[in-house]
Amino acid sequence: MIKHSYLSKKVKLVCSAIDRKGIFARKPIKKGEAISVWGGFIITEGDFRKLAKSQFKNIEDYATKVADGFYLVSCRSGKLEDDDFFNHSCNPNAGIKGHLMMVAMRDIAAGEEITYDYAMTDADFNYSFRCNCKAKSCRKVIKTTDWKNPSLQRKYKGYFSWYIQEKIKALKSAKRRK
Ligand SMILES: [Zn+2]
Repeated sequence: MIKHSYLSKKVKLVCSAIDRKGIFARKPIKKGEAISVWGGFIITEGDFRKLAKSQFKNIEDYATKVADGFYLVSCRSGKLEDDDFFNHSCNPNAGIKGHLMMVAMRDIAAGEEITYDYAMTDADFNYSFRCNCKAKSCRKVIKTTDWKNPSLQRKYKGYFSWYIQEKIKALKSAKRRK
């Protein structure tokens, strides 16, 4: 089967304690190394709403917003690919570059689950969920407004998606104008 996304050969999809399935390192991964490059289809806001009402009810969990009005999904049917299973952690080992690329934020050992913080990519969705990441710094409830948190903005500087980075910039300049 042709895959739409790149997934490093050093990782694999297996069962996870965080949420059913997750992506784990099979081999050590160096800081800065590419872990995944997300691909698929770009859909509009209208398509997104339509799919959410029909065959892809949990589309919010798997779509990446790449700009206002545009989303990246790995499929239109709800049939997921392995790269859809990266779990959230409040103490993640991977971050985002640009729209599509996931890189290691630090050296990752074989056997570790690869996680990122959904605050790095998600805004304006309606979900919130109880976090099960077990990190000391766990926020307990994850919301799609978490990117507004100044301490997270400092912690993940350089690792937010372009879309979120632009939103942070706009928020900061709006605050300065007040
Ligand atoms: Zn957590």
